[in-house]
Amino acid sequence: MLTINIDADGVLYDYSGEFWKMAREHYGRTFPPSLGWNQHEVMGIDEEEYWEFFHHCARNGVFRNGDAIPGGIESIRQWYKAGYRLRVVTHKSLRHAESTYHAQSDMVHWLHEQGVINKVELVFPKGEYHKQGFPADVVIDDKPDLKWAQEDAVNVLFDQPWNQTEDVAPIEHILYSPASPSHTHSLYATPRIYRAKGWDEVRSIVTKVEEQRRYEVLYH
Ligand SMILES: [Mg+2]
Repeated sequence: MLTINIDADGVLYDYSGEFWKMAREHYGRTFPPSLGWNQHEVMGIDEEEYWEFFHHCARNGVFRNGDAIPGGIESIRQWYKAGYRLRVVTHKSLRHAESTYHAQSDMVHWLHEQGVINKVELVFPKGEYHKQGFPADVVIDDKPDLKWAQEDAVNVLFDQPWNQTEDVAPIEHILYSPASPSHTHSLYATPRIYRAKGWDEVRSIVTKVEEQRRYEVLYH
């Protein structure tokens, strides 16, 4: 049974789409395409104004009204049927208690709306890098610093415009094949981080991990 950690914003949930929609409505203007991780730079406003606006968004549905990223919820359903242990691991501990309350309760509401609240465990790590405290076989995240990647896991960087800075192996670099176990493969190399362009590729990676597990059980 695989344990899979899934980040929410930018992986399952289109936080960015909702944030930019609220920014357009609030400021009455459009912003250039969001390519950077630091939104205040993209918006051309100072950090103080940005955070004030961010907390306004947090209290007003930025973590609740956004769309699902295509393929994520379907993957949760499929993996749940396969008996996997699924965790949505999302940093929703914000500077102000009021914002934290809204961010966390909105996430619960959204997962319920998507019909998967009973299929996942929901984890809100307190510190930004406390995602490491929840060991998994596969970890899926979009954050460009890669500090969420676990040494013992197969890590999947979910392709987004803001993480193109990371030089991460594409899915084709996973060479492991149960049919040719002597083949040099990278599922045992470290760090094991692969870029997945969309949820189809995420599922392909998980299938490879599953095949590798089966092979190990059979022959070791
Ligand atoms: Mg994210």
